[in-house]
Amino acid sequence: MKMEKIDIKSYDYDALIALLESWGEKPFRAKQIYQWLHEKAVMHFSDMTNISKALREKLEEKSEIYPTTMVDRLVSKDGQTTKFLFQLRDGSVIESVLMKYKHGNSVCISSQVGCRMGCRFCASTLGGLERNLTVSEMLGQIYAIQNISGERVSNVVIMGTGEPLDNYDNFVAFVKMLTDDKGYHISQRNITVSTCGLVEKIKELAEEQLQITLAISLHAPNDEARKKLMPVANQYTIAEIMEACDFYFAKTGRRVSFEYSLVEGQNDSEDFARQLCRLLKGKNCHVNLIPVNPIKERNFKDTNTVFVQKFKMILEKSGINVTIRREMGRDIDAACGQLRRNYMARNTKIDGVSESVTQ
Ligand code: SAH
Repeated sequence: MKMEKIDIKSYDYDALIALLESWGEKPFRAKQIYQWLHEKAVMHFSDMTNISKALREKLEEKSEIYPTTMVDRLVSKDGQTTKFLFQLRDGSVIESVLMKYKHGNSVCISSQVGCRMGCRFCASTLGGLERNLTVSEMLGQIYAIQNISGERVSNVVIMGTGEPLDNYDNFVAFVKMLTDDKGYHISQRNITVSTCGLVEKIKELAEEQLQITLAISLHAPNDEARKKLMPVANQYTIAEIMEACDFYFAKTGRRVSFEYSLVEGQNDSEDFARQLCRLLKGKNCHVNLIPVNPIKERNFKDTNTVFVQKFKMILEKSGINVTIRREMGRDIDAACGQLRRNYMARNTKIDGVSESVTQ
């Protein structure tokens, strides 16, 4: 039987030392290889110029730098947002987004192939969950974007396809590797994880004492309305989520963010704004209002700009920190999962023949 090659990018520093030692190599070799893989984000062993040819051959033979291959890319008209479609080793296709800001380059990554949370307005969940992403597949999205853009990534948000806390162990290992000073070394404070509110996992994450920002997809100020938008609301109440957020703040000192996607006629009334004020009053938090990005599979409409402003003002009057998310990249289909769905539809297998994408 053919031996499956090691996914070497998913080895953390200590594991890589142990691996190299088991091959009879010195620990400093592991340090060099780790640097090539995670600091310099190289895609081929042949780029590891200070590693002997013999060791590179051994690496080739026993392991592999699992690929993150770009299969499509869309750039917004203003050039600030680029959406990437990457193909993974097993053929799965995932989305990542690069957003260029004055303060640096932010990348939004996927944490799963598909999603099983079922949020009504979200395109990523329409086909259900296919599988979790591995640590190296999450890192790979960032490294590939650095290689393609030629620019360093300074901020990472885990807000692409998937529920990161539903892939908890890989997600936490990913954060530890991404922030490791021997690797790519992004500051934990520059990482934001968004969750639909898996209460036990939020508490577990709080105990890890990471300095990352927790963002909660709230989208409604009461359970009844939330259940209409998010099936996960049948599992956890808003009160339970709030308690978990308080615990996260107590453990980490990090202010929690709340995302609120405004859907016309569903959660955008002035009454709802006031309910949200009551829910969040006195909390050290931040609210991000997002006009919903309509997907063709559902007939949800986004709230018009005047009402978005009104909603914002009501929150501000209560002393709540609130911003409206810039609708970057709407012209390139930036809503979660839409580019991937379109790609899959274009590339469906007809009589066993796979059509290829035209770029
Ligand atoms: N599963 C995680 C992270 C991925 S979604 C979560 O639920 O937070 C990232 C954010 O985009 C979430 O707040 C999600 O509810 C929101 N979102 C998904 N589809 C959207 C759409 N079509 N319009 C506006 N926001 C959307």
